[in-house]
Amino acid sequence: MSYIEENLKEVEQKIQAACDRAGRDRSEVKLICVSKTKPVSDIREAMRLGQDTFGENKVQEIKDKTTEITEPLHWHMIGHLQTNKVKYLPGRVDMIHSVDNAGLAAEIEKQAAKADIVMDVLCEVNVAQEESKFGLTVEQTPDFVKEISKYPHVRVRGLMTIAPYTDDPESNRGYFKTLKQLMLDINAMNIPNVNMDTLSMGMTGDYEVAIEEGATFVRVGTGIFGERDYSKK
Ligand SMILES: *Cc1c(COP(=O)(O)O)cnc(C)c1O
Repeated sequence: MSYIEENLKEVEQKIQAACDRAGRDRSEVKLICVSKTKPVSDIREAMRLGQDTFGENKVQEIKDKTTEITEPLHWHMIGHLQTNKVKYLPGRVDMIHSVDNAGLAAEIEKQAAKADIVMDVLCEVNVAQEESKFGLTVEQTPDFVKEISKYPHVRVRGLMTIAPYTDDPESNRGYFKTLKQLMLDINAMNIPNVNMDTLSMGMTGDYEVAIEEGATFVRVGTGIFGERDYSKK
């Protein structure tokens, strides 16, 4: 058994256990395998084990990997996105998790219209207000959702957050609760074209807590593929 197989088994068990604790059905939570920096052979191993959804944080890497792997997979752009690179994403990714400014949203509308598709997006919220991170404040998010709801080729499916890196996942529980409540509050505003159902929250260190608090996407990299080596790039 490969280490990826062992890791995936463990992650799957933990996801199931968290669902059980929260009284949720396993089908409510989708595992996104975060394959950034990892070779295509690792992705192929995860595919062999039944995984079909992969998260990447660089447009160039998405271009390269979707050119090399032509099987039908779900690719998600989870990293900070520069406006001038949006044009490469229609047809390559199912969803963009990191929409956090008006210029970016306008460009997604433009490129999605050109490609004649509707792009699913999540608004990235910096719930913990970490200075090093991108994302909207909780307070800015309702108006931002309202603004992009006007675009016919962009569909706001929900919210995403990157919680602080920590050894104590319990310390992030409050941020996950806040994101879920924010989604409910915005849905209650009855904004035309907005009915959010997606919460992308939880990474290797804290996905079990995130599931307990309502995550529908968990983004797990290290826990599946092992530590990333950035020195090679
Ligand atoms: C890298 C990354 C992840 C995965 O992080 P791990 O701690 O390796 O699971 C999840 N979300 C985003 C946005 C990332 O950039």
